[in-house]
Amino acid sequence: MDISQKNALGLYWTPFGGNNVNDIWASCHCFASVAKDEKTGETQKNVILIDMGQHETPDEFTKGAYQTVVPALDDILKVPGSPDPKKENTLDAIFLTHSHSDHINGIYEYVRMGVKLPPIYASEFTINMVKKGFVEKDIDWNLIPEFRPIKSGETVQIGAMKVEAFQAPHSIPGSFAYKVSNPHASLFHSGDIKADHSSYLGESLNPEHMGEISKSGGVDVMTFDATATDREGFARQEKDIFDTYTELFEKYSDKQLIAPISAGHMERLATVIAAAEKVGKHVIINGGSSMQSHIMGLSASGIRLEELFPKIKVLSYKNPETEQLDLKNTVTITTGIYGDPKAPFIKALRGQSTIFPMQKDAVVIAPLVGDRYEKLQKIIKRSPRAANMTFITAMDRPDLYGSGHAQAEDFKYIAKLVAPKTVIPVHCSQKMAETLMFLAKSQNYQTMNRPVRNGETLHISSETGIERVDSKVPEWYGLRHPKNQFGDTTTEFHKVPDNGFSIPKTKSFKEKRLEADKKIAEYKNQHKNAGLLHATRRNANER
Ligand SMILES: [Zn+2]
Repeated sequence: MDISQKNALGLYWTPFGGNNVNDIWASCHCFASVAKDEKTGETQKNVILIDMGQHETPDEFTKGAYQTVVPALDDILKVPGSPDPKKENTLDAIFLTHSHSDHINGIYEYVRMGVKLPPIYASEFTINMVKKGFVEKDIDWNLIPEFRPIKSGETVQIGAMKVEAFQAPHSIPGSFAYKVSNPHASLFHSGDIKADHSSYLGESLNPEHMGEISKSGGVDVMTFDATATDREGFARQEKDIFDTYTELFEKYSDKQLIAPISAGHMERLATVIAAAEKVGKHVIINGGSSMQSHIMGLSASGIRLEELFPKIKVLSYKNPETEQLDLKNTVTITTGIYGDPKAPFIKALRGQSTIFPMQKDAVVIAPLVGDRYEKLQKIIKRSPRAANMTFITAMDRPDLYGSGHAQAEDFKYIAKLVAPKTVIPVHCSQKMAETLMFLAKSQNYQTMNRPVRNGETLHISSETGIERVDSKVPEWYGLRHPKNQFGDTTTEFHKVPDNGFSIPKTKSFKEKRLEADKKIAEYKNQHKNAGLLHATRRNANER
């Protein structure tokens, strides 16, 4: 969105990613404020981003050509190597909702492209996770942007624009929704959210705080997480999932218990530990590097699991104290629900791990359905170690499963607190967007005549309503990070059109890669000015 061309008082909103035709990926929302300064009468313009995500599965988009795909933000950022780089950033600040990679990983890629980012506001936990990413991805610390931690309830003023953070239960701590407003318009951006009133990490929905919005007259627009609003009822609450785990832990209290969960699902980690505490079993955490990294993020933010659950021992598998524990009196929390061959539990099933003590008659309790269930089923069938183990999945116990996203009743509940005039679905495919639009209409909220797509700009005003003012075919940056002869990570990138490269799915990966390379060469040829930049750690300081 080119703010120099935008002059109507109010807010402008452009989704750069997250409102895709066929899937969720790469959340990235731009909000621009145009306001009159009451004292001087001058027009004030400010631009912020909420989230800066990456495409989770770039192979589907560019058929193996890139490791990462992020929205092209040349309108608001000076991207060296872009065909027509801006003289300077117009972006004033970045706000992050939470630390999932489809909301934050664009930060790393833009820094690697040599872009100087403005200050980043987020919860302490989110910031800790982003910082850890810089270390894990081997990015020069000199390039790290400035981070400004904020708390739920805090309001940040960017020119005439106010941005207030609200606790938004999702599945990971420190998740925020934001209210964005100026004297001429207001908007509530839900982020990834569900209306959960129970949280063992202490971050449930705060209806008093959120309800202040409706009490003060509501907002013009609510952009809402439509990932799961096609499901009826409320998303399962952590306390209900706690009940299910507790019941199963009690039933198999004389066995070693193994509970695989998703590595970054810290809310669920706490729920499972709470259930273990309830039945008096100690917890061993053996989930590989990603889970460990998240737990370190928790403790860096002052959340220590051993302090939250003082009645039992919560130990890393590396802690020698685990050797003193009777395995029958423990719950091992691990990863591997996606069948990842590197996950310690999967390695243990395959007999490739000696650091994962597993008794012959252990009971495994995992929230698996569909593809994931079948994948694990295959591994179990081939594993002699699993022959006498008991597996309980969400196929037998659907109540083990709980999503981090709002379902229909969550939406209705949150909408009442926020009182929007108009509801616009985000974080969804076109089809999911339509489902939420019907639901919103049934609750007497206004919606748009069709879902808003990436690259479209809406003007929002309390006085004149909503108008679609711009539509640009969205572009993306595809990136690769090959190592150079010194072993340093380098960055290659260029623009990728929105439709990616259509190569038949039937081809082998190598064929796809070759064909994609050919298509990229053609594309680059057509767009001769498109930049290709090699940014290495070595020369990063010279920029
Ligand atoms: Zn998320």
